[in-house]
Amino acid sequence: MSVAKGVAVGVEIGSKQTTVALIDQEGHIQQRCLARTLYSRSAIATLDPYLRAIDMMLKHARDQELEVLGIGVSLPGSVDDPARRPLQVPILPSLNNFPLSDLLESRYNLPAHIYADVDAAMLGEHRFGSGKAHQRLLYLTINAVVGASLVIDGHLESSNQQYIGHVCHVPIATKGPRCSCGKYGCINTLLSIEAIKRMVQRALRRGEETTLTQRIQRHEVFSHRLLGEEAARGDNLALQIYRELARWLVEAMTRYISLFEPGIFILGGGVLYGGEVLLAQIRMLVGDRFSLPSCQTTEVVPACLGSDAALIGAIVPFARL
Ligand SMILES: [Zn+2]
Repeated sequence: MSVAKGVAVGVEIGSKQTTVALIDQEGHIQQRCLARTLYSRSAIATLDPYLRAIDMMLKHARDQELEVLGIGVSLPGSVDDPARRPLQVPILPSLNNFPLSDLLESRYNLPAHIYADVDAAMLGEHRFGSGKAHQRLLYLTINAVVGASLVIDGHLESSNQQYIGHVCHVPIATKGPRCSCGKYGCINTLLSIEAIKRMVQRALRRGEETTLTQRIQRHEVFSHRLLGEEAARGDNLALQIYRELARWLVEAMTRYISLFEPGIFILGGGVLYGGEVLLAQIRMLVGDRFSLPSCQTTEVVPACLGSDAALIGAIVPFARL
């Protein structure tokens, strides 16, 4: 494998841990290390483990005689683009409005960019993954919450309200539960991990038999991975949940595609643990629903950079072609 000369430092701030990596011009991770995510600390104390991990990566780059072109950060929250600082980071509120880009640039004398995680993942897929060669893309990621990002004419869409790309707040079920945004039936209320847990609880109250119960009784944390594993083993309830998820997903996708007419619709996040079980359901429903002319030209594909999409996407501004 040829190693491109320039590299950039990617930082993905996560709820359990933070990953810092050297990433080359082709989006390949050359070196990575982990840093602890510390809660309830001042901004400086929160950032300290991340800065030490960046120091380590820069030393590695020097030892390997690699040119470092910049630092890109992905964070779980929203970003004030003009001010180049985090707007809201729910798990690390001390970073809200902290001048993160300025701090990185002055400390390392390198250009820095920060992105919301869903936008970073979209940039990664657009430049190096499933969205290559497309100029108009919609990316939907389903993890603990549902996130969405939009690229139009090759550029990431953003707004002062931080909600243009957040199409997850387009209602898809008028009688659905109330969402944190105040509306009813947003995709977030139907496809988030909390919504999936409610589906399981309703089934258990109906007395349905499932191997999910045994795993939850063993104090395993309910997750997309756990649901995907049980579906792969043929558990009826897990399969039923994927059928319901596919139904809501296709409902949302049909609306988004009619609104934005993307050339490609990328599906990412933990929901992909559903694998072929979920994708086969989606393909079956898509055949019925996508009769609209705008939908017929849209390709629906799974994300291909996996759990590193946001880490890799954060360095896109420093990837020279
Ligand atoms: Zn909403």
